[in-house]
Amino acid sequence: MANTENNILPSHASVVVIGGGVMGCSTLYHLAKSGVTDAILLERNQVTSGTTWHSAAQVRALRSSHNLTDLIRYSIQLYGSLEAETGQQVGWINKGSLSIATNPDRMVHVRRQEALARLFGVAAEMITPGEAKERWPLMHSDDVLGAVWSPDDGRVSPSDLCAALIKGAKSRGARIFEQTGVTGIQTKNGRICGVETKNGVIKTEKIALCTGLWSRRAAAMAGVEVPVWPCEHFYLLTKPLPGISGNLPTLSDHDGHLYIRDDSGGLLVGCFEPMGKQIDPDRLGEDFAFQLLPEDWDHFEPMMHNALHRLPALEHAEVKMLLNGPESFTPDGSFLLGEAAETAGLFLGCGMNSVGVATGGGAGMALAHCMVNGAPPMDLHEVDPKRFDTACNDVGALAARVPEVLGKHYEITYPGRQWSTARGLRVLPLHQKWVEEKAHFGQVFGYERPLYFNKTTEPVLRFDKADWFDQVGAEVDIAQNGLAITDLSSFGKIEVTGAGAEAALNYICSNDMTRPPGHLTYSLMLNANGGINADLTVMRLSKTHYRLFVGTAALKRDVAWLSRHLSGDALLADVTDHYATLGVMGPKTAQLGVALNAAWLDEIGYFKHADGQIDGIAVTAARLSYIGEAGWELTCRSDDALQLYHLLSAAGGRPIGSLAQTSMRIEKGFISYGHDVDTDVTPAMAGLAFALDTKSDFIGKQALQNAPAPVKRLVTIILDDLNAVPLGNEPVMHEDRIIGKTTSAAFGYRVGQPVLLAMLDHACCVDGQSVSVDIAGVRFNGQVKCGPAYDPEGRRMRNAV
Ligand SMILES: Cc1cc2nc3c(=O)[nH]c(=O)nc-3n(C[C@H](O)[C@H](O)[C@H](O)COP(=O)(O)OP(=O)(O)OC[C@H]3O[C@@H](n4cnc5c(N)ncnc54)[C@H](O)[C@@H]3O)c2cc1C
Repeated sequence: MANTENNILPSHASVVVIGGGVMGCSTLYHLAKSGVTDAILLERNQVTSGTTWHSAAQVRALRSSHNLTDLIRYSIQLYGSLEAETGQQVGWINKGSLSIATNPDRMVHVRRQEALARLFGVAAEMITPGEAKERWPLMHSDDVLGAVWSPDDGRVSPSDLCAALIKGAKSRGARIFEQTGVTGIQTKNGRICGVETKNGVIKTEKIALCTGLWSRRAAAMAGVEVPVWPCEHFYLLTKPLPGISGNLPTLSDHDGHLYIRDDSGGLLVGCFEPMGKQIDPDRLGEDFAFQLLPEDWDHFEPMMHNALHRLPALEHAEVKMLLNGPESFTPDGSFLLGEAAETAGLFLGCGMNSVGVATGGGAGMALAHCMVNGAPPMDLHEVDPKRFDTACNDVGALAARVPEVLGKHYEITYPGRQWSTARGLRVLPLHQKWVEEKAHFGQVFGYERPLYFNKTTEPVLRFDKADWFDQVGAEVDIAQNGLAITDLSSFGKIEVTGAGAEAALNYICSNDMTRPPGHLTYSLMLNANGGINADLTVMRLSKTHYRLFVGTAALKRDVAWLSRHLSGDALLADVTDHYATLGVMGPKTAQLGVALNAAWLDEIGYFKHADGQIDGIAVTAARLSYIGEAGWELTCRSDDALQLYHLLSAAGGRPIGSLAQTSMRIEKGFISYGHDVDTDVTPAMAGLAFALDTKSDFIGKQALQNAPAPVKRLVTIILDDLNAVPLGNEPVMHEDRIIGKTTSAAFGYRVGQPVLLAMLDHACCVDGQSVSVDIAGVRFNGQVKCGPAYDPEGRRMRNAV
């Protein structure tokens, strides 16, 4: 179908797309549409022959973030218009989708989804069980409490879709080569320079790797880690059934782990069972084309039971087959889109986690945009391939994790939910100590980090007041009134050294990096558009030696960004594992210098750092605070961390976990990357203009100078109702108008009220402005504060009280 008339491989192509599934076809189409008319696609079998051909191909718009939702909305528009453009049908059926709830917590979940849909401008409404039954008459609805109805959703024919995309791409000059597997990827000086096939080598500077479940191995050919691993994925197909005529909406019964739709007059009943079945991709082999995996009725049986409950008519249906096809998953359930950290020019579009057809149109557009323009068209940090540590790419960890990822696809997204598999991949230097202190751990970038201490029982997840509420409150009290120890060792630590370090960092970072040694500088790294790529705290240890502290999960991304912008006379080293950092915070730090026989600590001014000894341990102490209480962050060799902890503990220090720290940073209005800011946010929007050095030239400066005044701004909201449990990502209303969304939320123990950060319309960013926050369909009143909820002048952290 797709072979080009001229099937001689070119010796060079601006872009080579590898893989002819929906991701590869969409990327090729969008590359050609963007003017990359010599782009080629290499497929080792036939197009669609991997996972795409047997997809259930439902397209449901709502995702967890605005931009991921926008990618699917783009797909919906594209799928609705491709036939007119190309003459090739895509089988787009727009019958909407229906998500039912059969328990109270699921009702909260779907109400949150409905609120999110309104925030993102997606059509969705809550309907009654009766109205749901009208839309799906075969459904047993006695146990249904309510449903969300989304009229714009639909489904597509995946093979026809790919045929249309290919037609559109070829009409603009792009070419497809089937039966042309890529056997090697050539790199030079850390950059892509060619692909090898059995039919010859094609020189290229850019590759779009869209190889589905085979991506881990394919990326390894370019020295790139891609933590993608497949699971078996099942749906049942029946012969035609009375009661099914024409097309119906897609029905999701998430409590029953099921999705259901009509198929040629019969039923298609698919599942995301609680624990999936992983499969080694090497077992499938390279010639796995248009193939399926064996039926597994024992595994499907509990789902069949649920399906019979939801659709009693299924009992009399004649089964056509139990389709079992492989699909790829990643350790956090989101796909990979963007340039790889390790090798410039290798762009990933893979690991689609069961939304490849829904997202494919938009994701292919975004990937092509990224390759042509150097960045995606909107912030896509949730799918940035650089978000995983090496430990996450371990085969054992992947094989353990992906069955749970498949299962969590339909789980209720309770706050505080943690993964139960592939834990302990990386531990902090004080891990054993934290185990002894009965820490409840959360996993970030592979690290186990204490969320709170003194866990007595396994917490039960819920949407109202959390099981850990009182314990976190007690830890905040330690920081506010005593001596708290925070473990910051997972923060990425990057050293930049050399004669060119100052000039290079002064260009890459937005703040003044020429300050003399001993100064701490909070800075941003902006992209060329002035969007916030990263935030970091920088120590200048000597004239030619800087130590950068970056977010735990940002390390790989920030190292890649720095490496690509540093010149030869500045060297970069990731020293994260060499050093531990313990924060010691609270009013009792006033006596700590004396107690530790380290009076030098007291001489360090605010936002300064100094080296010294504490009982023979070499420490770099920095005076700053992320939680708003006075203290230092003490960095020592990882091997010395336990001894330092014992000294701090003997002086009265008690450990506090990251939930207490989060509550306190929100009260202080301090941002967290990925929550409150990302590349769509400029410093002015986030109230971070103080981190711009107007005297120097830095990346993004020109864009900021030409930018119009921001229309949104980050502010604090304090809610009146002490029982409100905001989680972030909720709509904020003024009267009946949505004026923005919450970005971070917690109970603020020091102010005694729920506190949120929110990005709101500029006109509403006025102290005392009344607003309401929609939390699962209930509106909670609150007031805007254009500054921190707690200690707005920052007197406590400066020790000025
Ligand atoms: C049963 C089932 C139901 C699903 N239902 C839905 C749904 O309702 N909605 C939805 O959105 N998604 C659904 N999905 C998921 C969706 O089908 C996938 O996410 C999507 O098809 C993945 O597309 P892809 O292009 O990433 O991978 P693939 O379609 O697998 O394409 C990858 C291609 O790369 C080729 N390749 C690999 N290595 C090389 C190499 N070295 N050289 C050249 N070519 C190579 C392979 O041959 C293959 O053709 C479902 C999946 C399954 C299994």
